[in-house]
Amino acid sequence: MSFTVAIVGRPNVGKSTFFNRLLEQRKAIVDDVSGVTRDRQYGVTDWNGKTFNVIDTGGFVAGSDDVFESEIRKQVKIAIDEADALIFMTDVAVGITELDEAMADMLRRYKTPVFMAVNKVDNSERQLAATEFYSMGFDEIFFLSSMTGSGTGELLDAITALIPEDKEDAVNTDAAIPRFAIIGQPNVGKSSLLNALIGEERTIVSDIAGTTRDTIHTHYNLYQKEFVLIDTAGIRKKSKEKDDLEFYSIIRAIKAMDEADICLLVLDAEKGITAQDINIYSLAARKGKGIVVLVNKWDAIEGKETNTARDYEQNLKKRLAPFNDIPILFISAKEKTRIFKAIELAMEVYENKQRKITTSQLNEIMLKAVQAYRAPVVRGHAITIKYVTQLPTHTPSFAFFSNFPDDIKQPYKNYLENQLRKNFNFRGVPVRLFFRKK
Ligand code: GDP
Ligand code: GDP
Repeated sequence: MSFTVAIVGRPNVGKSTFFNRLLEQRKAIVDDVSGVTRDRQYGVTDWNGKTFNVIDTGGFVAGSDDVFESEIRKQVKIAIDEADALIFMTDVAVGITELDEAMADMLRRYKTPVFMAVNKVDNSERQLAATEFYSMGFDEIFFLSSMTGSGTGELLDAITALIPEDKEDAVNTDAAIPRFAIIGQPNVGKSSLLNALIGEERTIVSDIAGTTRDTIHTHYNLYQKEFVLIDTAGIRKKSKEKDDLEFYSIIRAIKAMDEADICLLVLDAEKGITAQDINIYSLAARKGKGIVVLVNKWDAIEGKETNTARDYEQNLKKRLAPFNDIPILFISAKEKTRIFKAIELAMEVYENKQRKITTSQLNEIMLKAVQAYRAPVVRGHAITIKYVTQLPTHTPSFAFFSNFPDDIKQPYKNYLENQLRKNFNFRGVPVRLFFRKK
């Protein structure tokens, strides 16, 4: 399930303040892609138990009115193309401006739901002034202060009401077909990989429409294995500007990710891993997706020696830490080297993600590990873990019952996670640990 909210509005109304508040408050991530895409930002947050993507379509720098017009058009276009709902932000301190009017005119032409947010309503005086904005005629209007946070909850309640209930953790997945997404930056070789797979494979069952217009789902049956490949490779937005193209490709990657169980993150061997790749990687991990890293264009690396791949892999793992218990495979889409191995690995990671450990098995192993290395004493009391159980969720999650759950520190949590990984195979899969009072 993928739901995306975009924030639009003229410069200085407080879009990025609101964005930051939204992401910090929920302890979600902020992936600042400025540099590549000026001030545009994207992230993932949750409210009322519903998770959604947020795009801040960005501030553009002040210029002539013509520049504003074209920039506004661009911002609205990105928002309409990519989002399921829009926050149209204005500023009570300044009042309604011509740019607000121009933007409102554009937004009214589309069917995407618009939530008007009158920002900087910091006090009751401004509350009164804010009523002016009713004249713009949007049904959904919210008065808020991104600075203090007042009114932001009401806005988020209204937005999340549009998001269908997340059935993620309730469904029985045994019968489901694994869904793999091919993601990565432009030009790493996603299309080539897809073509290499499709070209070799003659038993494609059918094409099924993606759940959003931005992804293509193709159903495969390969070596008795059934899976759906989700790709965005063939979809290219017409855009003159490189940073626009890159921004679109990031948003696409996030959507493909949302629809997938496992992400095949494709890198370019010659370029190595970039900050943008790491952003995408940590997003996938935070979303609880299984991950396989494919280092493509391995054919183009000159003078390979016995250790080249091993050294490359070690460096990669350092960059991906702390979560780096993942398969890394060196492939060439061009020469069709190891491309089916990539699918096999994805299948393996899928099996790891489905893995259920019985409570007795878990306790036998994990309580031994707890005894071998005890949690440090806090404020004079010994911390014990009495019981461990796996929770019935999609992403492997474990509840540890302890006498003082809040006193267990990160290093000890890391130790427990490593023990889980050492004893049970969760390669490629983010696992979650919860500590509860017993
Ligand atoms: P953007 O260009 O739309 O992203 O706007 P910014 O988030 O950069 O905010 C522009 C200015 O408005 C900054 O100086 C913020 O501190 C200020 N600002 C943002 N939200 C509020 C608010 O709720 N109340 C007040 N008084 N100032 C705000
Ligand atoms: P996408 O934008 O990620 O879909 O990338 P493409 O599949 O369009 O590939 C971008 C460029 O990389 C093209 O010129 C491809 O021919 C080239 N390329 C793709 N895979 C390989 C590979 O395995 N080896 C080499 N040497 N070039 C490749």
